[in-house]
Order: sequence, then C-alpha cells, then structure tokens
Amino acid sequence: MIFHSPSWVPKLANPPSSVTIPEFIFDESTGRAPFAQSRDPFVCGITGKSFSVQEVKERVDLLARGLAPELNWSSNAGTEFEKVVAVFSLNSIDYGTVSWATHLLGGLVSPVSAAYTAKELEFQLRDSKAKCLFTCSPLLEIALIAAKAVGIPENRIYVLQVAGTGVQGTVNGLKTVDDLIRNGRRRPSLERLRLGNGDGARRAAFLCYSSGTSGFPKGVMISHRNVISNILQVDAYERLHRESAEVALGILPMSHIYGLIMLLHENVYRGDSSVVLPKFDFAQSLDAIQRFKITTLFLVPPIFVLLIKSKSVVEQHDLSSVIHAVTGAAPLGEETAAQLQQMFPRWLIRQGYGLTETSTVVSSTSGKDIWMGSCGSLIPGCEARLVTEEGKEVENCDQAGELLIRSPSVALGYFNNPKANNETFKNGWLCTGDKAMFRKAPSGNQHLFIIDRMKELVKVKGHQVAPAELETHLLTHPAVGDCAVIPVPDEYYGEVPKAFVTKSSSVCMAECDALVKQSILRHAKQGKANYKWLRGGVEFIDAIPKSPSGKILRRVLIDQERRKKRQI
Ligand code: AMP
Repeated sequence: MIFHSPSWVPKLANPPSSVTIPEFIFDESTGRAPFAQSRDPFVCGITGKSFSVQEVKERVDLLARGLAPELNWSSNAGTEFEKVVAVFSLNSIDYGTVSWATHLLGGLVSPVSAAYTAKELEFQLRDSKAKCLFTCSPLLEIALIAAKAVGIPENRIYVLQVAGTGVQGTVNGLKTVDDLIRNGRRRPSLERLRLGNGDGARRAAFLCYSSGTSGFPKGVMISHRNVISNILQVDAYERLHRESAEVALGILPMSHIYGLIMLLHENVYRGDSSVVLPKFDFAQSLDAIQRFKITTLFLVPPIFVLLIKSKSVVEQHDLSSVIHAVTGAAPLGEETAAQLQQMFPRWLIRQGYGLTETSTVVSSTSGKDIWMGSCGSLIPGCEARLVTEEGKEVENCDQAGELLIRSPSVALGYFNNPKANNETFKNGWLCTGDKAMFRKAPSGNQHLFIIDRMKELVKVKGHQVAPAELETHLLTHPAVGDCAVIPVPDEYYGEVPKAFVTKSSSVCMAECDALVKQSILRHAKQGKANYKWLRGGVEFIDAIPKSPSGKILRRVLIDQERRKKRQI
C-alpha cells in the first residue's frame, strides 16, 4: 500500500531540473513571490540590519565574481566535487550568499555544525575534500587548526560576518565576505553555469553530514533539484493553509538541513523574512520575537520544554505576534505540546518530520488539521510505504512498520559510500530507519506517527550523534574493553547518549568504579562537540550483546533500559 499526500499539485510532477538553486529562487517566473511584495529575507536579530531580495541577489553575484579569481575557479570548468566550499559558521545573514555564490560557480557547499571541535571539522573537511573554508571570528581558532591539518592554506579561509561579534573589515588578515564582494565589483560578469536538461537532478548542491541508519557521519549528496522540489512541496502545502507572508525566528542552525531549507530557501522563495540570530539564546530569542513581531517559530522540542519551564521570564515578553510554533528534527512529546498549548492557547502547534536524506520535510501538520503527537500529512509529491522487518508491506494501514519514502526531494545518495547507499536507497525508496504508522484524523486525512527509531542514532536537541563514532572513540580509553552507545530519554535534551562498557583487563580489581567512570566520561568529551557528551552516563556490564556475526545488538540494551525505567 502506498500512502500519498492528501493534496496533489501538478507542478510537482516535474520539478525544474536544468537550473541551479539560486537561479530558481531569484527568478519570479518560477512562481516565487514577486520581489516587490517580498519582505527582506534576512534580518539580523541583533543589529536589525537587513538585505532585500534584490540586495541578496546582487551580493550572491558579486561574491561569486570576487571568489572566482581567488580560487581560480570558473563556472563551467570542473565538477562540483572539485569545487567544495565548507561553511563552518554560526548563523549569519550572509550564509545564503556564500552558498548560492558557490552554486553559481558550479561548486558544492558542505555546511559544518558550528558546535564541532577541530577534530570533527577536520574529519568533514577531509571527507568532503573541501578546497576552501568560510568561517566566522568566534570559530576562527578551531577553523585554523582544522584547515592546517588538512592542508587548506590560510588564503583560502574567508570570514562571514556574524552579528554581535564586532567584526568589521579584515580578521587576522583574512578576507571577509564584504572584501570579496568589493573585489567582485571590479570583475567582469560571471559566465552562466550551463546545465543541460536533467543536470540539476544529477548535480550535487549540498553535502550535508548524516550518519543515516548506521555507522559514521556520511556526506549526503543533495542535488539542486532535490532542494527546489522540497521548496515547491512545502510551498504548495503551506499555500493551502496560510494567509499572509511570515516573519520567522531564525535560530535553527543553518548547518542542519532543517535550518538550511526552512530559513534559507523557503523564505526567499515565499517572500518571507527570517530574523537571524547567531545561535540559540533564550533571552535574545524572546527579545527578537517581541521586537520583530515574529509570526513563525521554527524550533526543536527542547526549546518548547524551556518555554514551559521559564513561564515567568516568558511572561515578561509580548509574544502575541506568534501564530505558528513549528517543531521538527526530533519527537515532540504529546504532554509537552499540551502544556505549551495551555500556556499559549492561540498558537498553532505544528510538527514536521524529515531527514537530511529527504532534503528535509516529508510531512507536516497544517494549521488547520492539528493532531497532537502526529507529524501531520505527507506533503504533496511525497509517497510512503510501511514495511515489516522482513521487508514485507504491512497488512493494515494502521499497522506500524519501517517508513520508506519516495519523493523528488530524496537525495542522490551518500558520497563515496556504495555500501551505505545499497542499504538505504532501494529502488527509488529511501529507508528511513524510523518505525511509523498512519492513522486517519477526524479531517479524513492520514496522519503520520513516528513511533520508534530502529536505526543507530541518538538525537540530542535535534542534533545527530552516531553511536559508532562515540564507541570508536571510547575504545581508545585504556579501561574500555568493549562498549555500546544507546540513546536514553532526557527531559530537556530529548535524548542523550549512554555508554555500556566492559572493563578491559588493564583495570585492576581494586580500582574504584566511580573513578574509572569519571575518567571515561572525561575522555568521552575530548575532541567531541558538547552535545555528543555522555550525559546518559556510563554503566559497566559483563558483555556487550552481539549477534553471531559480531554486530552490536543495541536494541537489547535499549529495551533493557526501557524496562528498567518502567519499573522505577
Ligand atoms: P536529521 O537527518 O538530522 O534531520 O535526522 C532525521 C531523523 O530525526 C529522522 O530519521 C527521525 O529519526 C528524527 N526525526 C525528525 N523529525 C522527527 C519528528 N518530528 N518526530 C520524531 N523523529 C523525528
């Protein structure tokens, strides 16, 4: 049985496949909001500085012109994989400028989490084969260490201006985006990237990292057409339900697919605004909502929890402009949603579901068909199937199974990883690794419920943590004989990683368990982003459960942990 979206939009049958993303989002003939009616797409939530659509379009063109001679790149020479630009930055009103200028040059953008340590950045730079790096002054020290380790010279490191960091002009002698734009004014126009029919569907625009269903983070190749499709799908869905242009709170990290698509791409196409903050800061966010009369909050569940827990602070702000409170990237507890609804009876609390591998949105609740706990209906152009562990279709539509997705937004695959591609992308269907079911709402629409996660992944505040990555790191501690990392629930973070460890023979009987655990916990932090730390703790066990082939049976530990919780 194939589940479809309740609405069908003919233009989604054949999304444009011979244009780049910037050509598409800045071209009024593609159905985008007319420039004259668009709000400024990017507004700095601290300084109030903003760029109109026309200004963004010009900056993109000038940056591409300024960058071309620096890197010795021209639009039509070389493949996108020879022109990889890594962006390791906090949110900035120029994040889109850098991305789209790279696209005009025929290049590929690899966004890197701003929470990364030098070691983690080094991994992504090396794996993506990045040729240059855009960063921002608060992250410069880390960027310099990682760039040096992979051989990116300093004259290929550029600085994005981030609000509140006080950076004007050059930084450590490195050129800023404004410097490059200034140089671009003196350069001839750029040769247009020639894309033949279908090239936009084959050519990667972004290389975003996700661990998929197992193993280490992998580069997900997202094509120009994938992004354009998701823009059209979400736009078609939203147009059915909304009346006016929106002003969105821009605190989601633009390095994650949720922020990258919703804050950077959807808003420019729809003529909406994003009020951009460098990163999530509760007080700054509340001030920005009040000051800019923000109508849409794109959040992750832990921020909902924070809002509920900080009632007295929240009450000091006027949040009456808010209409939509949209959450995604991790499950939103029904209780949390209900508590928030009680606090803000007029807010439309909506949940979306998506993955990096689907260029983000797969389903969403519309403002007119809310069902707490559900991830809403499939968006137009998305199809779904549910299969059992044996790979057979479920027999009844309300039976749970692994969710498979077919959509023009499903990514091209993982970069240089045929094994993972074979496991995840099957005959045009993406295996999500999520256990789901569909239920009919009173509206008659089928709603998607994510019931469990079958894949190896811990979602901490919406960030991905790959158990395999932490396990490999833990094994380098002398006291760790073997280990397995699983997600455990956490009231604020949603989930946190917990390690089960067998002691190595080097640990003598007399050593105090508490001290050994402390040492392992300290080690787990080294070189790892804060959200990857073992907040779920360390537990010693006699043996790690494994299959006859040696695969860690994390599910056994997860079920054991859940049983223990229920007994408390
Ligand atoms: P990412 O690629 O980082 O966006 O992670 C995608 C994964 O996050 C999905 O496969 C789900 O496991 C989880 N996820 C995203 N949105 C939701 C949601 N609304 N409810 C439950 N899990 C979600």
